[in-house]
Amino acid sequence: MGKILLTGGCGYIGSHTAVALLEAGMEVVIADNLSNSSRDVIDRIGTITGKKPLFYEMDVCDGEALSRLFSQEKIDAAIHFAGYKAVGESVAKPLAYYRNNLDSALTLLETMAAHGTRVLIFSSSATVYGDGTPPYQEDMRSGICSNPYGWTKWMIEQILKDAAQADPTLSVVLLRYFNPVGAHESGLIGEVPRGIPNNLMPYVSQVAAGIRDHLNVFGNDYDTPDGTCLRDYIHVTDLARGHLKALEYALDHQGTEIFNLGTGQGSSVLEVIRAFEQANQLTIPFEIAPPRPGDLPVSYAATDKAERVLGWKAEKKLEDMCRDAWNFEKKLR
Ligand code: NAD
Ligand code: UDP
Repeated sequence: MGKILLTGGCGYIGSHTAVALLEAGMEVVIADNLSNSSRDVIDRIGTITGKKPLFYEMDVCDGEALSRLFSQEKIDAAIHFAGYKAVGESVAKPLAYYRNNLDSALTLLETMAAHGTRVLIFSSSATVYGDGTPPYQEDMRSGICSNPYGWTKWMIEQILKDAAQADPTLSVVLLRYFNPVGAHESGLIGEVPRGIPNNLMPYVSQVAAGIRDHLNVFGNDYDTPDGTCLRDYIHVTDLARGHLKALEYALDHQGTEIFNLGTGQGSSVLEVIRAFEQANQLTIPFEIAPPRPGDLPVSYAATDKAERVLGWKAEKKLEDMCRDAWNFEKKLR
């Protein structure tokens, strides 16, 4: 078998997926411009697995550089993680988001076509369900996104579906992630937010580390059991395993399939705080703050399709996610 290309493979989810693929005996090539990650991730992946992935420092929007990579390596499949992902920043800089996210996907797709690579897995997001009613089923009508980041995911999904429709030999899997959190149990790789974290778990970790003095809980008057929002948090190593299953499926099938990667369970903001405190035996000071504009009260996955078709199911619990997030945060300092 040839190699698997991970665009954005130095990032949070890509690095954990690289570990899962290498541990399964696959050969991994990473292309990343390090815009939101660092080169030492490559060494850390090597330390965890005993095998170092090949690394190309490059912008995936650069068609010539990507074509050179495809000429040098025999790429059987690509997993496209590369892209910008900060919701708030996408509202402030929509053109940068549309340019980078759409351009990288189109360039990859065109280069794959030119080099005869037929299999593509794409990092999509639960955000494409918009304000539908959970549990979100893969075949639910979707497409009312509330920010440019979400629209880039929606648009790329559509582009990939159209491409696979036009070329029946293509195999495309769209993975809709819910809320990936936690870190590899070694503490060597994890999520490194730049600046003030937007997401809950990295923020809680920084409060635990004393970098922020308290957590603001955005709203406690939602129509949920304790008034705070529910999200489907999934351990990043469970997510990484999901990519391995999706890849095995895609290498064996043609056409487009969509899978949710979530646990199917919603946890509230207060439950996350309590789980973090219990798992790590510390206290997280918090205050109730006004709701964050655009937040959905409840989001969680329907997980039956991934279980039935891929034979994949999330295994780790919220406590595991909190323990591993804190273990990684401690090693960062
Ligand atoms: P990340 O920022 O940690 O990783 C993305 C990687 O892509 C980074 O290493 C960055 O340097 C690289 N990159 C960005 N633009 C590039 C370009 N033009 N060329 C080469 N490399 C480029 O993000 P992540 O959390 O690992 O997310 C991976 C993918 O999953 C993204 O597409 C993201 O939108 C999607 N996703 C993430 C989440 C989440 O909560 N983390 C949820 C749903 C979907
Ligand atoms: N949240 C919060 N304080 C924070 C960050 C997040 O209360 O500092 C809440 C947020 O309102 C949401 C949940 O935590 O209900 C998860 O937020 P995150 O940004 O991690 O994920 P998303 O909302 O994008 O699913």
